[in-house]
Amino acid sequence: MSTGKIGVSTGNLFPIIKKFLYSDHEIFLREIVSNAVDASQKMKVLASNGEFKGELGELKVRVKADKAAGTLTVSDNGIGMTQEEVEKYINQIAFSGAEEFMNKYKDNAAAIIGHFGLGFYSSFMVSDRVEIVTKSYKEGAKAVKWSCEGNPEYTLEETEKAERGTDIIMHISEEEKDFLEDAKVNELLTKYCKFLPIEIIFGKKKEWKDGEYKDTTEDNVINDTNPAWTRKPADLTEEDYGKFYHELYPMAQDPLFHIHLNVDYPFNLTGILYFPKIDNKFEIQKNKIQLYSNQVYVTDSVEGIVPEYLTLLHGVIDSPDIPLNVSRSYLQSDRNVKKISSHITKKVADSLSDIFTNKREDYEKKWDDLKIFIQYGMLTDEKFAERAKTIFLFKNTEGKYFTYEEYENLIKANQTDKDNKVVFLYATDVKEQYTYIETVKGKGYDVLLMDGQLDTHFINHLEQKNSDHRFVRVDSDVIDKLISKEETKEVSLSHEEQEELRAVFTSQLPKEEGMFMVNFEAMGENADPVIVTRSEFMRRMKEMAAMNP
Ligand code: ADP
Ligand code: MG
Repeated sequence: MSTGKIGVSTGNLFPIIKKFLYSDHEIFLREIVSNAVDASQKMKVLASNGEFKGELGELKVRVKADKAAGTLTVSDNGIGMTQEEVEKYINQIAFSGAEEFMNKYKDNAAAIIGHFGLGFYSSFMVSDRVEIVTKSYKEGAKAVKWSCEGNPEYTLEETEKAERGTDIIMHISEEEKDFLEDAKVNELLTKYCKFLPIEIIFGKKKEWKDGEYKDTTEDNVINDTNPAWTRKPADLTEEDYGKFYHELYPMAQDPLFHIHLNVDYPFNLTGILYFPKIDNKFEIQKNKIQLYSNQVYVTDSVEGIVPEYLTLLHGVIDSPDIPLNVSRSYLQSDRNVKKISSHITKKVADSLSDIFTNKREDYEKKWDDLKIFIQYGMLTDEKFAERAKTIFLFKNTEGKYFTYEEYENLIKANQTDKDNKVVFLYATDVKEQYTYIETVKGKGYDVLLMDGQLDTHFINHLEQKNSDHRFVRVDSDVIDKLISKEETKEVSLSHEEQEELRAVFTSQLPKEEGMFMVNFEAMGENADPVIVTRSEFMRRMKEMAAMNP
Protein backbone atom coordinates (compact mmCIF):
# COMPACT_ATOMS: atom_id res chain seq x y z
CA MET A 1 0.00 0.00 0.00
CA SER A 2 1.20 3.48 -0.78
CA THR A 3 0.06 6.80 0.42
CA GLY A 4 0.79 10.12 -1.11
CA LYS A 5 -0.19 13.65 -1.79
CA ILE A 6 -2.23 14.55 -4.81
CA GLY A 7 -0.22 16.54 -7.34
CA VAL A 8 -0.01 20.22 -8.11
CA SER A 9 -1.34 22.73 -5.64
CA THR A 10 -4.34 20.63 -4.84
CA GLY A 11 -4.52 21.66 -1.23
CA ASN A 12 -6.21 24.79 -2.47
CA LEU A 13 -8.19 23.11 -5.15
CA PHE A 14 -10.50 20.91 -3.13
CA PRO A 15 -12.48 23.60 -1.45
CA ILE A 16 -12.81 25.30 -4.80
CA ILE A 17 -14.13 22.13 -6.37
CA LYS A 18 -16.50 21.59 -3.52
CA LYS A 19 -17.99 25.01 -3.51
CA PHE A 20 -17.47 26.84 -6.72
CA LEU A 21 -16.55 24.64 -9.59
CA TYR A 22 -20.04 23.47 -10.26
CA SER A 23 -22.82 25.45 -8.73
CA ASP A 24 -24.99 22.45 -9.32
CA HIS A 25 -23.94 19.49 -7.20
CA GLU A 26 -25.98 17.01 -9.15
CA ILE A 27 -23.71 17.15 -12.18
CA PHE A 28 -21.23 14.87 -10.38
CA LEU A 29 -23.21 11.91 -11.67
CA ARG A 30 -22.95 13.14 -15.22
CA GLU A 31 -19.18 13.46 -14.81
CA ILE A 32 -18.67 10.02 -13.31
CA VAL A 33 -20.97 8.27 -15.76
CA SER A 34 -19.44 10.04 -18.73
CA ASN A 35 -15.98 8.96 -17.57
CA ALA A 36 -17.26 5.39 -17.55
CA VAL A 37 -18.65 5.90 -21.04
CA ASP A 38 -15.32 7.37 -22.16
CA ALA A 39 -13.50 4.35 -20.78
CA SER A 40 -15.85 2.07 -22.74
CA GLN A 41 -15.47 4.07 -25.93
CA LYS A 42 -11.70 3.95 -25.59
CA MET A 43 -11.99 0.19 -25.33
CA LYS A 44 -13.86 0.13 -28.61
CA VAL A 45 -11.18 2.23 -30.25
CA LEU A 46 -8.45 -0.11 -29.02
CA ALA A 47 -10.35 -3.16 -30.24
CA SER A 48 -11.02 -1.66 -33.64
CA ASN A 49 -7.43 -0.59 -34.25
CA GLY A 50 -6.12 -3.97 -33.14
CA GLU A 51 -4.28 -2.78 -30.05
CA PHE A 52 -6.59 -4.94 -27.97
CA LYS A 53 -7.06 -8.48 -29.23
CA GLY A 54 -9.05 -10.03 -26.37
CA GLU A 55 -12.75 -10.39 -25.79
CA LEU A 56 -14.47 -7.01 -25.85
CA GLY A 57 -17.72 -8.29 -24.33
CA GLU A 58 -20.79 -6.14 -24.02
CA LEU A 59 -19.75 -2.68 -22.91
CA LYS A 60 -22.12 -1.40 -20.28
CA VAL A 61 -22.17 1.05 -17.41
CA ARG A 62 -24.00 0.03 -14.25
CA VAL A 63 -25.16 2.42 -11.56
CA LYS A 64 -26.08 1.09 -8.11
CA ALA A 65 -27.40 2.91 -5.09
CA ASP A 66 -26.89 1.05 -1.81
CA LYS A 67 -28.69 2.90 0.93
CA ALA A 68 -27.53 0.56 3.71
CA ALA A 69 -23.88 1.02 2.81
CA GLY A 70 -24.42 4.67 1.93
CA THR A 71 -22.73 4.25 -1.44
CA LEU A 72 -23.46 5.13 -5.01
CA THR A 73 -21.36 3.05 -7.39
CA VAL A 74 -20.71 3.51 -11.09
CA SER A 75 -19.12 0.49 -12.77
CA ASP A 76 -17.83 -0.03 -16.27
CA ASN A 77 -15.97 -2.66 -18.23
CA GLY A 78 -13.94 -0.11 -20.15
CA ILE A 79 -10.15 0.22 -20.33
CA GLY A 80 -9.54 0.45 -16.59
CA MET A 81 -6.34 1.89 -15.16
CA THR A 82 -3.01 0.49 -14.08
CA GLN A 83 -1.46 1.76 -10.86
CA GLU A 84 0.73 4.16 -12.86
CA GLU A 85 -2.30 5.44 -14.68
CA VAL A 86 -4.17 6.09 -11.46
CA GLU A 87 -1.18 8.02 -10.24
CA LYS A 88 -1.02 9.98 -13.43
CA TYR A 89 -4.66 10.55 -14.31
CA ILE A 90 -6.25 10.73 -10.91
CA ASN A 91 -3.54 12.05 -8.67
CA GLN A 92 -2.33 14.72 -10.98
CA ILE A 93 -5.61 16.46 -11.19
CA ALA A 94 -6.01 19.25 -13.65
CA PHE A 95 -4.14 16.99 -16.01
CA SER A 96 -6.67 15.57 -18.31
CA GLY A 97 -6.14 12.02 -19.44
CA ALA A 98 -8.84 12.50 -22.00
CA GLU A 99 -6.94 15.33 -23.61
CA GLU A 100 -3.86 13.15 -23.95
CA PHE A 101 -5.85 10.27 -25.38
CA MET A 102 -7.50 12.57 -27.88
CA ASN A 103 -4.16 13.84 -29.10
CA LYS A 104 -2.85 10.34 -29.50
CA TYR A 105 -5.89 8.91 -31.27
CA LYS A 106 -7.05 12.06 -32.98
CA ASP A 107 -8.84 10.46 -35.87
CA ASN A 108 -11.10 7.92 -34.25
CA ALA A 109 -11.50 9.14 -30.73
CA ALA A 110 -13.84 11.97 -31.49
CA ALA A 111 -16.40 10.74 -29.02
CA ILE A 112 -14.36 11.25 -25.87
CA ILE A 113 -16.22 13.48 -23.53
CA GLY A 114 -13.75 14.82 -21.03
CA HIS A 115 -11.74 17.93 -21.76
CA PHE A 116 -11.01 19.47 -18.47
CA GLY A 117 -9.50 16.95 -16.17
CA LEU A 118 -11.63 18.01 -13.23
CA GLY A 119 -14.69 15.93 -13.87
CA PHE A 120 -13.78 13.07 -11.59
CA TYR A 121 -13.20 15.34 -8.62
CA SER A 122 -16.72 16.66 -8.79
CA SER A 123 -17.63 13.42 -6.97
CA PHE A 124 -16.24 15.05 -3.83
CA MET A 125 -19.02 17.61 -3.92
CA VAL A 126 -21.34 14.90 -2.62
CA SER A 127 -19.00 12.32 -1.05
CA ASP A 128 -17.03 11.99 2.16
CA ARG A 129 -14.87 9.40 0.53
CA VAL A 130 -14.42 8.16 -3.00
CA GLU A 131 -12.85 4.82 -3.92
CA ILE A 132 -11.66 3.69 -7.29
CA VAL A 133 -11.32 -0.04 -7.85
CA THR A 134 -9.86 -0.58 -11.27
CA LYS A 135 -8.18 -3.15 -13.48
CA SER A 136 -6.59 -2.23 -16.77
CA TYR A 137 -7.28 -4.09 -20.02
CA LYS A 138 -3.50 -4.51 -20.38
CA GLU A 139 -2.23 -8.03 -20.09
CA GLY A 140 -1.05 -8.98 -16.64
CA ALA A 141 -2.32 -5.76 -15.13
CA LYS A 142 -3.00 -5.89 -11.40
CA ALA A 143 -6.15 -4.43 -9.94
CA VAL A 144 -5.68 -1.41 -7.67
CA LYS A 145 -7.78 0.46 -5.19
CA TRP A 146 -7.46 4.18 -4.65
CA SER A 147 -9.18 5.88 -1.78
CA CYS A 148 -9.44 9.52 -0.81
CA GLU A 149 -11.47 11.56 1.63
CA GLY A 150 -11.58 14.82 -0.21
CA ASN A 151 -8.26 16.14 1.06
CA PRO A 152 -4.89 15.97 -0.64
CA GLU A 153 -4.02 12.63 1.04
CA TYR A 154 -4.91 9.40 -0.68
CA THR A 155 -4.11 5.68 -0.42
CA LEU A 156 -3.36 3.37 -3.29
CA GLU A 157 -3.09 -0.42 -2.89
CA GLU A 158 -3.35 -3.63 -4.80
CA THR A 159 -6.70 -5.35 -4.67
CA GLU A 160 -8.74 -8.18 -6.14
CA LYS A 161 -10.93 -7.56 -9.16
CA ALA A 162 -11.97 -10.28 -11.58
CA GLU A 163 -13.09 -8.22 -14.57
CA ARG A 164 -11.45 -5.49 -16.57
CA GLY A 165 -12.87 -2.05 -15.87
CA THR A 166 -13.51 0.44 -13.10
CA ASP A 167 -15.83 0.87 -10.12
CA ILE A 168 -16.19 4.35 -8.73
CA ILE A 169 -17.58 4.00 -5.23
CA MET A 170 -18.90 7.20 -3.75
CA HIS A 171 -19.60 7.29 -0.02
CA ILE A 172 -22.33 9.87 -0.09
CA SER A 173 -22.09 12.46 2.65
CA GLU A 174 -24.83 12.95 5.20
CA GLU A 175 -26.16 16.20 3.76
CA GLU A 176 -26.34 14.76 0.23
CA LYS A 177 -28.16 11.53 1.15
CA ASP A 178 -30.81 12.34 -1.40
CA PHE A 179 -28.46 10.99 -4.04
CA LEU A 180 -29.00 7.48 -2.70
CA GLU A 181 -32.72 7.51 -3.46
CA ASP A 182 -33.71 5.44 -6.47
CA ALA A 183 -36.07 8.09 -7.69
CA LYS A 184 -33.43 10.80 -7.49
CA VAL A 185 -30.75 8.73 -9.22
CA ASN A 186 -33.22 7.76 -11.88
CA GLU A 187 -34.17 11.38 -12.42
CA LEU A 188 -30.55 12.49 -12.78
CA LEU A 189 -29.61 9.65 -15.10
CA THR A 190 -32.61 10.40 -17.25
CA LYS A 191 -31.73 14.05 -17.36
CA TYR A 192 -28.01 13.82 -18.07
CA CYS A 193 -27.45 10.42 -19.59
CA LYS A 194 -30.51 9.77 -21.71
CA PHE A 195 -28.58 9.77 -24.97
CA LEU A 196 -25.13 8.51 -24.01
CA PRO A 197 -23.65 6.10 -26.53
CA ILE A 198 -23.04 3.20 -24.11
CA GLU A 199 -25.88 1.47 -22.28
CA ILE A 200 -26.42 2.85 -18.78
CA ILE A 201 -28.19 0.39 -16.49
CA PHE A 202 -29.89 1.30 -13.27
CA GLY A 203 -31.67 -1.55 -11.49
CA LYS A 204 -34.23 -3.77 -13.13
CA LYS A 205 -37.20 -2.96 -15.28
CA LYS A 206 -40.34 -2.83 -13.21
CA GLU A 207 -43.70 -4.31 -13.99
CA TRP A 208 -47.12 -3.85 -12.45
CA LYS A 209 -48.03 -7.07 -10.66
CA ASP A 210 -50.44 -7.92 -7.85
CA GLY A 211 -51.18 -4.29 -7.15
CA GLU A 212 -47.60 -3.06 -7.03
CA TYR A 213 -44.51 -2.44 -9.13
CA LYS A 214 -42.11 -5.36 -9.02
CA ASP A 215 -38.64 -5.85 -10.45
CA THR A 216 -38.42 -8.04 -13.53
CA THR A 217 -35.20 -9.84 -14.41
CA GLU A 218 -34.58 -7.44 -17.25
CA ASP A 219 -32.03 -4.63 -16.89
CA ASN A 220 -33.46 -1.15 -16.76
CA VAL A 221 -31.63 0.68 -19.55
CA ILE A 222 -31.76 4.42 -19.08
CA ASN A 223 -30.59 5.62 -22.45
CA ASP A 224 -31.12 5.56 -26.17
CA THR A 225 -27.54 4.91 -27.34
CA ASN A 226 -28.20 5.87 -30.91
CA PRO A 227 -30.31 9.02 -30.85
CA ALA A 228 -31.65 10.40 -34.10
CA TRP A 229 -29.38 13.44 -34.25
CA THR A 230 -26.26 11.26 -34.35
CA ARG A 231 -27.52 9.41 -37.39
CA LYS A 232 -27.41 10.43 -41.02
CA PRO A 233 -30.50 12.27 -42.28
CA ALA A 234 -30.61 9.80 -45.20
CA ASP A 235 -31.08 6.92 -42.75
CA LEU A 236 -34.02 8.54 -40.99
CA THR A 237 -37.68 8.57 -41.90
CA GLU A 238 -40.21 11.23 -40.99
CA GLU A 239 -41.45 8.75 -38.45
CA ASP A 240 -38.02 8.50 -36.82
CA TYR A 241 -37.92 12.27 -36.44
CA GLY A 242 -41.38 12.24 -34.94
CA LYS A 243 -40.50 9.45 -32.55
CA PHE A 244 -37.38 11.20 -31.40
CA TYR A 245 -39.34 14.38 -30.82
CA HIS A 246 -41.66 12.55 -28.49
CA GLU A 247 -38.72 10.99 -26.72
CA LEU A 248 -37.67 14.52 -25.88
CA TYR A 249 -41.12 15.94 -25.20
CA PRO A 250 -43.54 13.14 -24.43
CA MET A 251 -46.51 15.45 -23.91
CA ALA A 252 -46.06 17.65 -26.97
CA GLN A 253 -48.06 17.66 -30.17
CA ASP A 254 -46.41 16.62 -33.41
CA PRO A 255 -44.01 19.33 -34.56
CA LEU A 256 -44.41 21.32 -37.77
CA PHE A 257 -40.98 20.80 -39.30
CA HIS A 258 -37.58 19.58 -38.34
CA ILE A 259 -34.14 20.70 -39.36
CA HIS A 260 -31.26 18.29 -39.07
CA LEU A 261 -28.01 20.12 -38.33
CA ASN A 262 -24.77 18.51 -39.35
CA VAL A 263 -21.59 20.54 -39.55
CA ASP A 264 -18.03 19.43 -39.22
CA TYR A 265 -16.21 22.50 -40.34
CA PRO A 266 -15.19 24.99 -38.98
CA PHE A 267 -16.65 23.47 -35.83
CA ASN A 268 -18.49 20.33 -34.91
CA LEU A 269 -22.19 20.61 -34.53
CA THR A 270 -25.01 18.17 -34.90
CA GLY A 271 -28.58 18.30 -33.79
CA ILE A 272 -32.19 18.43 -34.77
CA LEU A 273 -34.31 21.50 -34.34
CA TYR A 274 -38.07 21.31 -34.45
CA PHE A 275 -40.66 23.99 -35.03
CA PRO A 276 -43.21 23.08 -32.40
CA LYS A 277 -46.92 23.28 -32.98
CA ILE A 278 -48.39 25.73 -30.57
CA ASP A 279 -52.05 25.40 -29.82
CA ASN A 280 -52.48 28.22 -27.53
CA LYS A 281 -50.78 31.52 -28.14
CA PHE A 282 -49.89 31.84 -24.52
CA GLU A 283 -48.34 28.46 -24.43
CA ILE A 284 -45.15 29.52 -26.18
CA GLN A 285 -42.26 28.29 -24.14
CA LYS A 286 -38.72 29.36 -24.51
CA ASN A 287 -35.64 27.35 -23.81
CA LYS A 288 -36.80 23.92 -24.69
CA ILE A 289 -33.74 23.18 -26.78
CA GLN A 290 -31.36 20.83 -25.05
CA LEU A 291 -27.66 21.32 -25.39
CA TYR A 292 -25.40 18.28 -25.45
CA SER A 293 -21.70 17.74 -25.71
CA ASN A 294 -20.93 14.37 -27.25
CA GLN A 295 -24.33 13.09 -26.21
CA VAL A 296 -23.91 14.26 -22.60
CA TYR A 297 -26.63 16.63 -21.51
CA VAL A 298 -25.30 20.04 -20.57
CA THR A 299 -28.18 22.45 -20.25
CA ASP A 300 -31.53 23.47 -21.61
CA SER A 301 -30.75 27.10 -21.35
CA VAL A 302 -29.37 27.97 -24.73
CA GLU A 303 -29.56 31.76 -24.60
CA GLY A 304 -26.46 33.20 -26.10
CA ILE A 305 -25.75 30.05 -28.04
CA VAL A 306 -28.59 30.13 -30.48
CA PRO A 307 -30.04 33.43 -31.65
CA GLU A 308 -32.76 34.69 -29.33
CA TYR A 309 -35.68 33.94 -31.66
CA LEU A 310 -34.56 30.35 -32.08
CA THR A 311 -34.95 29.75 -28.36
CA LEU A 312 -38.59 29.22 -29.30
CA LEU A 313 -37.67 26.09 -31.19
CA HIS A 314 -37.39 22.64 -29.68
CA GLY A 315 -34.82 19.93 -30.14
CA VAL A 316 -31.20 19.12 -29.53
CA ILE A 317 -27.89 20.75 -30.32
CA ASP A 318 -24.74 18.75 -29.75
CA SER A 319 -21.31 20.25 -29.99
CA PRO A 320 -18.05 19.30 -28.37
CA ASP A 321 -16.86 22.78 -29.31
CA ILE A 322 -19.12 24.56 -26.90
CA PRO A 323 -17.24 24.98 -23.64
CA LEU A 324 -19.32 23.36 -20.93
CA ASN A 325 -18.28 24.34 -17.48
CA VAL A 326 -17.89 28.03 -17.97
CA SER A 327 -20.00 31.02 -17.20
CA ARG A 328 -22.75 32.23 -19.44
CA SER A 329 -21.12 35.60 -20.08
CA TYR A 330 -18.02 33.77 -21.22
CA LEU A 331 -20.15 31.61 -23.50
CA GLN A 332 -21.75 34.63 -25.06
CA SER A 333 -18.45 36.21 -25.93
CA ASP A 334 -16.89 32.98 -27.15
CA ARG A 335 -16.01 33.17 -30.83
CA ASN A 336 -16.93 29.58 -31.52
CA VAL A 337 -20.33 30.14 -30.00
CA LYS A 338 -20.89 33.21 -32.16
CA LYS A 339 -20.02 31.25 -35.27
CA ILE A 340 -22.30 28.44 -34.23
CA SER A 341 -25.12 30.88 -33.71
CA SER A 342 -24.83 32.45 -37.13
CA HIS A 343 -24.50 29.08 -38.74
CA ILE A 344 -27.70 27.90 -37.14
CA THR A 345 -29.51 30.97 -38.43
CA LYS A 346 -28.30 30.28 -41.94
CA LYS A 347 -29.18 26.62 -41.75
CA VAL A 348 -32.68 27.27 -40.42
CA ALA A 349 -33.38 29.80 -43.15
CA ASP A 350 -31.98 27.51 -45.84
CA SER A 351 -34.05 24.56 -44.67
CA LEU A 352 -37.20 26.63 -44.63
CA SER A 353 -36.46 27.84 -48.15
CA ASP A 354 -36.01 24.24 -49.17
CA ILE A 355 -39.33 23.19 -47.77
CA PHE A 356 -40.97 26.24 -49.25
CA THR A 357 -39.56 25.57 -52.70
CA ASN A 358 -40.08 21.83 -52.78
CA LYS A 359 -43.22 21.36 -50.74
CA ARG A 360 -45.05 24.60 -50.98
CA GLU A 361 -48.44 23.04 -50.34
CA ASP A 362 -47.26 21.53 -47.08
CA TYR A 363 -45.56 24.78 -46.17
CA GLU A 364 -48.75 26.75 -46.72
CA LYS A 365 -50.72 24.28 -44.67
CA LYS A 366 -48.43 24.85 -41.72
CA TRP A 367 -47.86 28.52 -42.30
CA ASP A 368 -50.39 29.78 -39.76
CA ASP A 369 -48.44 27.98 -37.03
CA LEU A 370 -45.06 28.75 -38.47
CA LYS A 371 -45.70 32.43 -39.02
CA ILE A 372 -44.96 33.61 -35.50
CA PHE A 373 -41.49 32.03 -35.53
CA ILE A 374 -40.57 33.59 -38.83
CA GLN A 375 -41.92 36.98 -37.82
CA TYR A 376 -40.14 36.90 -34.52
CA GLY A 377 -36.95 36.01 -36.34
CA MET A 378 -37.37 38.73 -38.92
CA LEU A 379 -38.16 41.33 -36.30
CA THR A 380 -35.17 40.54 -34.13
CA ASP A 381 -32.46 39.41 -36.50
CA GLU A 382 -31.40 41.42 -39.52
CA LYS A 383 -29.60 38.53 -41.12
CA PHE A 384 -32.51 36.21 -40.71
CA ALA A 385 -34.90 38.87 -42.00
CA GLU A 386 -32.80 39.18 -45.12
CA ARG A 387 -32.85 35.43 -45.68
CA ALA A 388 -36.47 34.86 -44.78
CA LYS A 389 -37.84 37.63 -46.99
CA THR A 390 -38.70 35.24 -49.77
CA ILE A 391 -40.38 32.64 -47.60
CA PHE A 392 -42.63 34.87 -45.56
CA LEU A 393 -46.23 34.43 -46.62
CA PHE A 394 -49.16 36.81 -46.60
CA LYS A 395 -52.58 35.28 -46.23
CA ASN A 396 -55.54 37.13 -47.64
CA THR A 397 -59.06 37.12 -46.28
CA GLU A 398 -59.93 34.40 -48.76
CA GLY A 399 -57.33 32.09 -47.26
CA LYS A 400 -54.88 32.27 -50.15
CA TYR A 401 -51.16 32.54 -49.49
CA PHE A 402 -48.66 34.75 -51.29
CA THR A 403 -45.04 35.65 -50.92
CA TYR A 404 -44.32 39.33 -50.51
CA GLU A 405 -43.30 39.60 -54.13
CA GLU A 406 -46.29 37.67 -55.42
CA TYR A 407 -48.62 39.82 -53.41
CA GLU A 408 -47.05 43.06 -54.48
CA ASN A 409 -47.39 42.01 -58.11
CA LEU A 410 -51.00 41.11 -57.53
CA ILE A 411 -52.03 44.46 -56.12
CA LYS A 412 -49.64 47.06 -57.38
CA ALA A 413 -51.48 47.89 -60.59
CA ASN A 414 -54.73 48.41 -58.76
CA GLN A 415 -53.79 49.57 -55.29
CA THR A 416 -51.41 52.46 -55.67
CA ASP A 417 -52.05 55.78 -54.02
CA LYS A 418 -51.36 59.24 -55.34
CA ASP A 419 -47.82 59.18 -53.93
CA ASN A 420 -47.25 56.03 -55.91
CA LYS A 421 -47.14 53.90 -52.79
CA VAL A 422 -48.50 50.41 -53.02
CA VAL A 423 -51.36 50.13 -50.56
CA PHE A 424 -51.66 46.85 -48.66
CA LEU A 425 -55.14 46.60 -47.23
CA TYR A 426 -55.62 44.41 -44.24
CA ALA A 427 -58.20 43.31 -41.75
CA THR A 428 -57.46 42.22 -38.22
CA ASP A 429 -60.76 40.50 -37.65
CA VAL A 430 -62.72 38.98 -40.49
CA LYS A 431 -66.01 38.92 -38.64
CA GLU A 432 -65.88 42.36 -37.15
CA GLN A 433 -64.72 43.99 -40.34
CA TYR A 434 -66.88 41.90 -42.62
CA THR A 435 -68.82 44.76 -44.21
CA TYR A 436 -65.73 46.84 -44.84
CA ILE A 437 -63.88 43.90 -46.30
CA GLU A 438 -66.76 43.16 -48.66
CA THR A 439 -67.10 46.77 -49.74
CA VAL A 440 -63.42 47.05 -50.50
CA LYS A 441 -63.38 43.74 -52.30
CA GLY A 442 -66.34 44.95 -54.33
CA LYS A 443 -64.06 47.68 -55.63
CA GLY A 444 -61.70 45.02 -56.89
CA TYR A 445 -59.18 45.31 -54.07
CA ASP A 446 -57.62 42.50 -52.11
CA VAL A 447 -57.57 42.36 -48.32
CA LEU A 448 -54.95 40.63 -46.18
CA LEU A 449 -55.66 38.97 -42.91
CA MET A 450 -53.30 40.25 -40.23
CA ASP A 451 -54.62 38.82 -37.01
CA GLY A 452 -51.40 37.44 -35.51
CA GLN A 453 -49.80 38.48 -32.22
CA LEU A 454 -46.85 40.09 -33.93
CA ASP A 455 -48.62 41.50 -36.97
CA THR A 456 -48.72 45.09 -35.78
CA HIS A 457 -44.99 45.10 -35.14
CA PHE A 458 -44.42 43.29 -38.33
CA ILE A 459 -46.37 45.83 -40.38
CA ASN A 460 -44.24 48.59 -38.86
CA HIS A 461 -41.17 46.64 -39.76
CA LEU A 462 -42.29 46.20 -43.35
CA GLU A 463 -43.19 49.86 -43.75
CA GLN A 464 -39.77 50.84 -42.48
CA LYS A 465 -38.07 48.49 -44.88
CA ASN A 466 -40.14 49.54 -47.88
CA SER A 467 -40.86 53.22 -47.99
CA ASP A 468 -43.02 52.75 -51.09
CA HIS A 469 -45.39 50.38 -49.33
CA ARG A 470 -48.23 51.43 -47.09
CA PHE A 471 -50.36 49.21 -44.88
CA VAL A 472 -53.90 50.36 -44.28
CA ARG A 473 -56.46 48.70 -42.12
CA VAL A 474 -59.87 48.50 -43.72
CA ASP A 475 -62.48 50.52 -41.88
CA SER A 476 -65.11 53.06 -42.94
CA ASP A 477 -62.60 55.89 -43.14
CA VAL A 478 -60.38 53.97 -45.46
CA ILE A 479 -63.20 53.04 -47.72
CA ASP A 480 -64.11 56.69 -48.23
CA LYS A 481 -60.57 57.65 -49.03
CA LEU A 482 -60.05 54.75 -51.32
CA ILE A 483 -63.14 55.50 -53.26
CA SER A 484 -62.10 59.09 -53.92
CA LYS A 485 -58.64 57.83 -54.76
CA GLU A 486 -60.08 55.30 -57.08
CA GLU A 487 -61.90 58.07 -58.87
CA THR A 488 -58.65 59.81 -59.63
CA LYS A 489 -57.34 56.67 -61.03
CA GLU A 490 -58.09 55.31 -64.38
CA VAL A 491 -58.27 57.24 -67.57
CA SER A 492 -61.38 56.00 -69.25
CA LEU A 493 -60.18 56.90 -72.74
CA SER A 494 -58.42 54.26 -74.73
CA HIS A 495 -54.93 54.87 -76.00
CA GLU A 496 -56.18 55.67 -79.53
CA GLU A 497 -58.83 58.03 -78.24
CA GLN A 498 -56.21 59.84 -76.19
CA GLU A 499 -53.93 60.20 -79.21
CA GLU A 500 -56.77 61.55 -81.33
CA LEU A 501 -57.77 64.04 -78.71
CA ARG A 502 -54.18 65.12 -78.16
CA ALA A 503 -53.81 65.80 -81.87
CA VAL A 504 -56.91 68.00 -81.82
CA PHE A 505 -55.63 70.06 -78.89
CA THR A 506 -52.11 70.31 -80.19
CA SER A 507 -53.32 71.65 -83.52
CA GLN A 508 -54.89 74.59 -81.64
CA LEU A 509 -51.81 75.45 -79.54
CA PRO A 510 -48.87 77.72 -80.51
CA LYS A 511 -46.52 75.88 -82.79
CA GLU A 512 -43.20 75.97 -80.92
CA GLU A 513 -42.23 72.39 -80.57
CA GLY A 514 -42.39 70.87 -77.13
CA MET A 515 -43.59 74.11 -75.67
CA PHE A 516 -46.90 72.67 -74.57
CA MET A 517 -47.81 69.25 -73.39
CA VAL A 518 -51.19 67.68 -73.49
CA ASN A 519 -52.06 65.22 -70.77
CA PHE A 520 -55.06 63.41 -69.51
CA GLU A 521 -55.70 63.32 -65.84
CA ALA A 522 -57.55 60.28 -64.66
CA MET A 523 -60.65 61.30 -62.77
CA GLY A 524 -62.92 58.33 -62.99
CA GLU A 525 -66.03 57.02 -64.69
CA ASN A 526 -66.78 59.45 -67.48
CA ALA A 527 -64.88 62.69 -67.11
CA ASP A 528 -61.20 62.84 -67.98
CA PRO A 529 -60.13 66.47 -68.06
CA VAL A 530 -57.41 67.41 -70.43
CA ILE A 531 -54.52 69.27 -68.90
CA VAL A 532 -52.31 71.43 -70.98
CA THR A 533 -49.00 72.32 -69.41
CA ARG A 534 -46.29 74.56 -70.68
CA SER A 535 -42.99 72.91 -70.29
CA GLU A 536 -40.99 74.91 -67.79
CA PHE A 537 -37.73 73.84 -69.34
CA MET A 538 -38.76 74.88 -72.86
CA ARG A 539 -40.11 78.18 -71.60
CA ARG A 540 -36.81 78.98 -69.95
CA MET A 541 -34.90 78.04 -73.08
CA LYS A 542 -37.09 80.37 -75.12
CA GLU A 543 -36.55 83.19 -72.68
CA MET A 544 -32.79 82.74 -72.74
CA ALA A 545 -32.78 82.64 -76.53
CA ALA A 546 -34.70 85.90 -76.56
CA MET A 547 -32.19 87.56 -74.22
CA ASN A 548 -29.16 86.52 -76.28
CA PRO A 549 -30.17 86.80 -79.89
P1 ADP B 1 -11.46 14.06 -18.04
O1 ADP B 1 -12.59 13.12 -18.19
O2 ADP B 1 -11.80 15.43 -18.51
O3 ADP B 1 -10.17 13.58 -18.61
P2 ADP B 1 -11.78 13.49 -15.31
O4 ADP B 1 -11.37 14.20 -14.07
O5 ADP B 1 -13.22 13.26 -15.48
O6 ADP B 1 -11.21 14.30 -16.51
O7 ADP B 1 -11.02 12.15 -15.36
C1 ADP B 1 -9.60 12.13 -15.28
C2 ADP B 1 -9.03 10.91 -15.91
O8 ADP B 1 -9.23 9.79 -15.07
C3 ADP B 1 -9.68 10.49 -17.22
O9 ADP B 1 -9.15 11.21 -18.29
C4 ADP B 1 -9.31 9.02 -17.29
O10 ADP B 1 -8.01 8.85 -17.78
C5 ADP B 1 -9.33 8.62 -15.84
N1 ADP B 1 -10.61 7.98 -15.53
C6 ADP B 1 -11.63 8.51 -14.85
N2 ADP B 1 -12.65 7.64 -14.76
C7 ADP B 1 -12.26 6.53 -15.39
C8 ADP B 1 -12.86 5.25 -15.66
N3 ADP B 1 -14.09 4.97 -15.23
N4 ADP B 1 -12.14 4.35 -16.35
C9 ADP B 1 -10.90 4.62 -16.78
N5 ADP B 1 -10.29 5.79 -16.58
C10 ADP B 1 -10.95 6.74 -15.89
MG1 MG C 1 -14.41 13.29 -17.30
